[in-house]
Amino acid sequence: MSWRDAMCGDLRAADVGRRVTLSGWADTRRDHGGLVFVDLRDHTGKIQLVVNPERSPSAADEAHDVRNEFVLQAEGEVVARAPEAVNPNLPTGGIEVHVDTLRVLSRSTPLPFQLDEENVDENLRLRYRWLDMRTPRMQRNLRLSHTAVAAIRRTMDELGFVDVWTPSMTKGTPEGARDFLVPVRLQPGTFYALAQSPQLFKQLCMVGGVDRYYQIAMCWRDEDLRADRQFEFRQLDIEMAFVEREDVLDVLERCVVASFAAVGRKPPFVPFPRLQYADVMRRYGSDKPDLRFGLEIQDATEVTRGSPFGVFANAPVVRYLVAPRAFSRAELARLEEIAKEWGAKGLAYLVNDGDEVRSPILKFLSPEELIAFGPDRGTTVLFAAADEGTVTRVLGGLRAHLGRELELADPDAQAFLWTLDFPLFEHHVESEGWTFVHHPFTAPLTGSEHRIESDPAGVVGQHYDLIWNGWELGSGSIRIHSAEMQQAVFRVMGMGEEEQRAKFGFLLEALEMGAPPHGGFALGLDRFLALLAGEPDIRQVIAFPKVASGSDPLTGAPTPMPDSVLRELGIRSIADAPET
Ligand code: ASP
Repeated sequence: MSWRDAMCGDLRAADVGRRVTLSGWADTRRDHGGLVFVDLRDHTGKIQLVVNPERSPSAADEAHDVRNEFVLQAEGEVVARAPEAVNPNLPTGGIEVHVDTLRVLSRSTPLPFQLDEENVDENLRLRYRWLDMRTPRMQRNLRLSHTAVAAIRRTMDELGFVDVWTPSMTKGTPEGARDFLVPVRLQPGTFYALAQSPQLFKQLCMVGGVDRYYQIAMCWRDEDLRADRQFEFRQLDIEMAFVEREDVLDVLERCVVASFAAVGRKPPFVPFPRLQYADVMRRYGSDKPDLRFGLEIQDATEVTRGSPFGVFANAPVVRYLVAPRAFSRAELARLEEIAKEWGAKGLAYLVNDGDEVRSPILKFLSPEELIAFGPDRGTTVLFAAADEGTVTRVLGGLRAHLGRELELADPDAQAFLWTLDFPLFEHHVESEGWTFVHHPFTAPLTGSEHRIESDPAGVVGQHYDLIWNGWELGSGSIRIHSAEMQQAVFRVMGMGEEEQRAKFGFLLEALEMGAPPHGGFALGLDRFLALLAGEPDIRQVIAFPKVASGSDPLTGAPTPMPDSVLRELGIRSIADAPET
């Protein structure tokens, strides 16, 4: 016996007359007084089964009990539907199967939600993920993800990359997040960290002569969960020896194009625009701007030097946005709140609602300023006046907010972007020293090596980010391949020789034993797949994600552990276990 010899969604008019055996789930069941109609579903689609007691009394008996999501096997004949019964919305809508034998293979308890129900609470969906997975949305997302990943793997293979597995349990990798720790029973009191990324291992692969490494790598980071963040996630992780930045960017662009093509979407144009960090920050107030809309930040610093309006005249930097809408007072109050959340003291504005220009600061502005800013009809000019960092943050925050609120982005546009030339270091508030912007293994721009220690703030790193519609898809860099330079970076970060050797001795030794120039990248695969699938968050492309609290609604994890287990691991819990 075979469970099936045809798939539900594959049958067509050409199959009329064929005898088929199908297996699948009862999507819906309608009892028309004697005749029972069941839509049978498998992953390929649905087909209508007709159970007629005159044709098969035993099948009719069996059909009587069938409820949604029972698993059935049906054997019968493919028949053309009567013209008035044709359903043009279904690929199998011209035919049906007249059933001779029906078997219930598996029953279902009443369902916590119906598969075609809209807006089912996400916790409920995740609690019963096996049901949720049967919906067209999840079926599509999981299969689309597979197709894109297969295309990426093919591309990597064609380009000569070697898939190398690296350990999950390792020493902490500094990617800027907290580590998840794994206690070691054989050495109580010691811990592995789950890899935040395979960063150092992939660099060691380059020292080891692998030349082109890739991996679809699991990464673990203890960070708050968000639309684009889970504790555990996958990266397309890449490292290449003897390359320049452009070689790495080219590989990534090829992967993106191949993924689009594989899932049947029109690929974006390559090469993607390359913008410098300083430039994107000034124009968009963010290193990951959504470029599906303009709304660029304009500079007013020069025009406002000597302004009669003291707030402008005294601010080191004055910049503004011109929003394509004449906001009401209430809307402006809300925008001011948002500006304050980003660090502004207030929000100066000029509104042109068609009849007049409204603004509390109107009377303070000079004629030159009014000419420079005088808003067009139906627009509002929003100002930020403060130090450069605050102005950038405030206007960047407002720009992103307005983009969403006014729906400025063309939903059909795909805006890819490389942000390049980030600073190598930034101020570390707690230590009042310096810390890395990307990670400490990023090389400075060629020619600026000698300034690493003398002018950390002025050194630009060979770091690049890939952005799609305002989402950061991933980061990479050309790496440091000399131990001396690596040690100089560690020193700027306040690490003495002893600490360097304790934490990164293995890396320094490797760099001292013939390390080739190299660079790489990591693409956040789940983010990429979510955007490729047109989903608003990564949980929709992950089979079994966790929710914002950090729990897994399906298994109920995490759970407390008995003292006996902890003792064996050399651990005593000081937290009060939650009530179970
Ligand atoms: N390891 C880095 C990250 O996970 C990526 C890279 O530099 O290749 O962001």
